[in-house]
Amino acid sequence: MTANGTNYSKVDGPIDPSFKSKRQVAGTFQGIKVWGPVDPPGQLGIWGTEVTVDFDICVACTEACPVNVYEWLNTPGHPASEKKPFMIREKDCIFCMACENVCPPQCVKIFQKG
Ligand code: SF4
Ligand code: SF4
Repeated sequence: MTANGTNYSKVDGPIDPSFKSKRQVAGTFQGIKVWGPVDPPGQLGIWGTEVTVDFDICVACTEACPVNVYEWLNTPGHPASEKKPFMIREKDCIFCMACENVCPPQCVKIFQKG
């Protein structure tokens, strides 16, 4: 047994749509919020503010965004997948919902500004 973030299993979806009232922002990565708990490499939390993905559920299957919001981020050692769709261009989101609708484990939640 180790205590360095390796003792985790894949988490089943869907993302908790109320996570913002239950989790704390643990930090930011390139300006994008990361909601804890976070214990890398095995536990990565939920990323984003409007375009949010539970990285602990994501199995890195596809990218569906028409405006290129995401880029792949390597996450070696994570039990669900070793890359994740990082919403680096979150501000470009046009709220088409394609990513949320296509996601097999339902780990994407879009929060439309308003
Ligand atoms: S809602 Fe549409 S525009 Fe926004 S990140 Fe998802 S696929 Fe891209
Ligand atoms: S569709 Fe869902 S599981 Fe697949 S890469 Fe995107 S966020 Fe991850």
